[in-house]
Amino acid sequence: MQLPLNYVIILPQYGVIMREFCGLLSKEVKNFFEEEGEKTFRAKQLFDWVYQKGVLDYDQMLNLPQPLRDQLKEKLHLGLLKLEKMENSSDGETKKFLWKLLDGRFVESVLIMSGTRRTVCVSSQVGCPARCAFCASGKEGVMRNLTPAEIVEQVAQINKHLIESGERVSHIVFMGMGEPLENYTSVVRALKILMDPELFGFSPRKITVSTVGVVPNINKMIEEDLKVNLALSLHAPNQHIRKKIVPYSRKFAFDDVLNSVRRYSKFTKRDITYEYVLLEGINDGEEHAKELAELLRNEQCIVNLIPYNPVMGLNLKRPSAPKIEKFHRILSKYNVATTRRYTKGKDIAAACGQLALRKKDKKNL
Ligand code: SAH
Repeated sequence: MQLPLNYVIILPQYGVIMREFCGLLSKEVKNFFEEEGEKTFRAKQLFDWVYQKGVLDYDQMLNLPQPLRDQLKEKLHLGLLKLEKMENSSDGETKKFLWKLLDGRFVESVLIMSGTRRTVCVSSQVGCPARCAFCASGKEGVMRNLTPAEIVEQVAQINKHLIESGERVSHIVFMGMGEPLENYTSVVRALKILMDPELFGFSPRKITVSTVGVVPNINKMIEEDLKVNLALSLHAPNQHIRKKIVPYSRKFAFDDVLNSVRRYSKFTKRDITYEYVLLEGINDGEEHAKELAELLRNEQCIVNLIPYNPVMGLNLKRPSAPKIEKFHRILSKYNVATTRRYTKGKDIAAACGQLALRKKDKKNL
């Protein structure tokens, strides 16, 4: 049976079909309330509990009448993610959340606290199909797509966690496990829900989707007109080197990928971020920096240099600090805006590329 994206079957032995609350736009929830003969102001009360107050348990929504709460429990599923484990980095700036999904699979999100920013790094799939040479997430391929609600709930749950100390999620990056543009329909729906003014109401400027470069779906994103930030995982100044480390570059030619993100930037008037993981002896030479600078020098963009974070079992190295410095300096000399991503959460394997499948999921592959 093919169900729409925002439906879930709970208790398969009884065939109970429910909708996932966090996978619904505000107008869809209001329609649901109307169909059920409920006043729509009740929907607004519900939005306030979940998205503003961080309450994800119907029993705690005390201004909703008990019969309505019972009905919601049966029809709109809330609380798809069960917290299995939370780890804090030693500097206290990064927290990693391991969620157990309803089907027993696991997925992780990371909260990065930097200055006043509270950024949630969300996963979009269990595993990843991109299989980049330096990344833990794709080592075993992809298990399944996350539903829109499973994506939105990562933000809702971490927001709940922050609200307890008087804070809120301020930014969202799709840089956790998975390739967001290979789970296009769910990711676009999740983005619309995150930006829905009656729900979280995030500005598109506070959201970044990072992609390995799935050209047709970058083009589709332009038509969606969501205006979220796009980051391209480039990692090389040319196709020859990119092919060695990013298997997806066999699917999409270097120039086609660049052209599609440049079109995205032109249409949305948002600067593209190019992510570049620095790998010793592979893409970290002066000649690579110069070639990259030539490629991007006339473009309104930002290069984000990410020194490689170690992944178990991979025979790759992070370049030395002076080498990273040198690379950075060359780009700056060509006036290419460059930032360096400081590694956060390495001690809890929460840094970029360190999110991996659990043992149980590997067995199911
Ligand atoms: N699939 C998407 C999003 C997930 S990866 C993408 O490819 O963009 C998020 C970022 O982490 C990407 O830029 C990715 O290349 C980077 N990354 C992956 N493994 C890494 C590692 N071991 N060290 C540093 N950065 C890594």
